[in-house]
Amino acid sequence: MYKIPSLLLTFILYTLFTFSVHSQTILKSEFSASVNKYLQEIADPVKGIGAREAGSAKEKETIIYVGKNFKEMGLNVSVQPFSLTKGELTSANVIADLNSNKAKTLVLAAHLDSTGAEHGSHGATDNATGLAALLTVAEELAHKENLPYNIRFIAFGAEEVGLLGAKYYVKNLLEESGTAENILAMINLDTIAGGDFLYVHSAHTTPYKCGDIKAKYNSDTHVRDALFSLSSSLINKAQQYIIHPAYEGYPEGVTGGWSDHAPFACAGVPIAYIESTNFTINGKDGYDGYSQSDNAALWDCFDKTTHSACERKEENQWGHIWHTKSDQLAIMDQLFSQRLTQQLTASVEVLIAFLSNYKLDEIENNQMNNQ
Ligand SMILES: [Zn+2]
Repeated sequence: MYKIPSLLLTFILYTLFTFSVHSQTILKSEFSASVNKYLQEIADPVKGIGAREAGSAKEKETIIYVGKNFKEMGLNVSVQPFSLTKGELTSANVIADLNSNKAKTLVLAAHLDSTGAEHGSHGATDNATGLAALLTVAEELAHKENLPYNIRFIAFGAEEVGLLGAKYYVKNLLEESGTAENILAMINLDTIAGGDFLYVHSAHTTPYKCGDIKAKYNSDTHVRDALFSLSSSLINKAQQYIIHPAYEGYPEGVTGGWSDHAPFACAGVPIAYIESTNFTINGKDGYDGYSQSDNAALWDCFDKTTHSACERKEENQWGHIWHTKSDQLAIMDQLFSQRLTQQLTASVEVLIAFLSNYKLDEIENNQMNNQ
């Protein structure tokens, strides 16, 4: 047996190691510049837009901003306006197609609105993070021409006031086409950075409250599972997707109907939902993923041994970021340094791999077998 001299072995290992680290760094820095630029332009109230409440002038500014960016990428852009239930206010969805001539479509979506500025939130994690990833993925895939399907990027309006944009989109689609069966899958990006860990969920096995969306509910897990396995093979441990354990009312890996994926599952579309939070914390209502972080600055008092508030009755903050005054880029930066960038570039990498290599035939057969 040939024994490699140890010096040579060291050299080979060194070369391999530096090569892999180097190539990963190039890839990451390419996306990190993009995600940071979008984050700032969306969530920074001085250099960008800031809070973008549904129906407000700031939400309209965001609609124009997203549309302009999609257009500059050469995508086929349309704006779908709709009214809010409250008074005369309006909102809109921004829809951008990569290959609109294809029969089948994959949807990647993020909501563009945020809660109101009066909560002190700038909508940095919720949901400038999802929107920044959506724009970065679109920018990267805008040059892909030979895919056998269309990729539809959607920025939904008015999510925070009852998923109004997503519901409007799905109802409209069903009215026009009678079915959503041409949508292969929908991936929802909502609050995908800022929390301690990254999770990927599928639709709850018990159907959501679907209202007037009448179709065969879909809780298929294949999109979630594909994203999970891509993440496990492509991404560093710290930013890999996790499937959450079961907790009361929620079997392992499933999510509630509180974001834009819900109307799609109701319409029979297989969905996945990416979310950053922390299911290891015993939060206000138990282990339900509502406490996004165990960072002490986000608690009145956090007890590391019980992974909960020191005094449950006294606690006011509960590690919440979304919809609070902590949801600002400057605060996220101060608490977590590079976390938003690292989590976003990891998701961008996984999404690009998924969307550009979607196995059309395999998935369609899988769906047929499930019918
Ligand atoms: Zn959100």
